[in-house]
Amino acid sequence: MAKKYYDVIIIGGGVSGAAIAWKLAKYDLKVLLLEKEADLATGTTKANTAIIHGGYNADPSTVKGRLNVKGNQQIKEIVRDLNVPFKEIGSLVVALEGDDISQLTKLLENGNKNGVKSLEIVDQAWLQKNEPNLTDEARAALYSPTAGVINPWEFALAMAENAVQNGLDIQLETKVTDIIMKDKQVTGVETNKGSFYGNYIVNAAGLFADEIARMVGIDKVKIQPRKGEYYLYDQAYDFAVNHIIFQLPKSHSKGIVVTKSVDNNLMIGPTSEPVAGKNDLATTATGLEKVYKSAKNIFPDLSLSNVIREFAGLRAADVSEDFIIEAASDVSGFINCAGIQSPGLSSAPAIADLVIDILADEGLNLNKKTNYIKYREEPIRFYELSHQERAKLVESDCRYGKIICRCETVTYKEIVDAIHGPIGARTVNAVKRRTRAGAGRCQGGFCGPKVVEIIAEELGISPTEVRLEKDNSKILKFEIKELLNDEVHNDA
Ligand SMILES: Cc1cc2nc3c(=O)[nH]c(=O)nc-3n(C[C@H](O)[C@H](O)[C@H](O)COP(=O)(O)OP(=O)(O)OC[C@H]3O[C@@H](n4cnc5c(N)ncnc54)[C@H](O)[C@@H]3O)c2cc1C
Repeated sequence: MAKKYYDVIIIGGGVSGAAIAWKLAKYDLKVLLLEKEADLATGTTKANTAIIHGGYNADPSTVKGRLNVKGNQQIKEIVRDLNVPFKEIGSLVVALEGDDISQLTKLLENGNKNGVKSLEIVDQAWLQKNEPNLTDEARAALYSPTAGVINPWEFALAMAENAVQNGLDIQLETKVTDIIMKDKQVTGVETNKGSFYGNYIVNAAGLFADEIARMVGIDKVKIQPRKGEYYLYDQAYDFAVNHIIFQLPKSHSKGIVVTKSVDNNLMIGPTSEPVAGKNDLATTATGLEKVYKSAKNIFPDLSLSNVIREFAGLRAADVSEDFIIEAASDVSGFINCAGIQSPGLSSAPAIADLVIDILADEGLNLNKKTNYIKYREEPIRFYELSHQERAKLVESDCRYGKIICRCETVTYKEIVDAIHGPIGARTVNAVKRRTRAGAGRCQGGFCGPKVVEIIAEELGISPTEVRLEKDNSKILKFEIKELLNDEVHNDA
């Protein structure tokens, strides 16, 4: 087989890798994105609070502190060009009776040093008017109007899809197992699908970035996963929360947040507990109790009756507690983009800028493409359309008339489009990320089997081959006809 050569190989298809790929796709370069799972954005990028932070929290002397604000400043243009759901609802850090209210001023000063715009401290009367469900004990809050909520996986997918439109190659289910080097210069990667060759390698492997770094002899990256657990509520839960609400931050965490997601689901969490396993995404009774107790502390009328899901995410925190974005000192062509814990989502565009600056310093030629495609076509979101718009679509293709996910009003045609899109969905969760089928009240109880059937039909595979997400997550054990055949054989 012919050798495959690239200018840049990016390891990891989370929001960091996708942002780097998207920005590199503006240049005349051959770029390859390698992802070990069957879809992009299945690591930390899929399970987080989904906030584009204002940027007042991180210390200005850290890389995190510098990049958060720069990322936030780019977000509005990106979501407009790439059609990503985003709501700039603003955030509040609330101080209660008995809290040290001077901490709000410290945060405000920190934010000013980081260059956060329009920060102000609001008083009790403002809070009572704008957040009617907040406890009467809320005395004041730091208001950051430039914070917002985004759909994190669509953010990553949209950047990657636009990069594909502009020539990016993506290899899914391709796990990097080693880095190839010659005379202290990287020349490629070994994977479970063979070797790929390139002059520059960017390590954006999230929780596994330390293992990739070790492949070139770098020991300084040490990822210590920290779990965050959440409750997610039904969209129908009528409980007003108009901003992203924080309490005063703790040492390594911004504390339990109460917010609405971009799709209007109330969400509370996350905890912040170190864990040993990089795949330990189990929720725990203790963690969830902490979440609820802390959220009740500021929203006393909150109940658990409308919760539809519990989930957990893992922060890929480096022991330094900062992002490590730098070229390797001993090995040419290797760039680490590691320790990307919160605010990694908010910082992603700025992380990509920094990586590209480093690549340029390392000798990569950056010539802008002349035929660059700036915009990503907006996917049809049937549930957002008026009756007239829906009728028109059904007339154009009757598959829009068949509702598969009743909770979220997702049509057959949207699912087919997700499967055949620029980065086609291959799993049930990949369909969910692209269409919201299965994201509603019944959590796929009704539409799940239908989605399995459609994936199987469109990909020409047996339903027993269709997975929820990872390679050990096949949903069906056998087809009925196989069972019947077996019974016939057994009876004979
Ligand atoms: C609980 C929690 C709350 C958070 N809240 C926020 C928030 O509100 N706002 C915010 O800005 N940030 C937040 N963050 C942080 C944010 O989610 C992360 O910084 C961001 O998603 C990291 O993206 P990433 O691309 O670096 O890593 P990931 O999304 O983990 O992507 C890394 C990818 O690399 C792949 N990979 C790993 N090893 C290999 C290999 N050997 N070969 C090929 N591929 C490989 C993985 O499969 C994965 O897809 C939160 C994080 C957590 C856990």
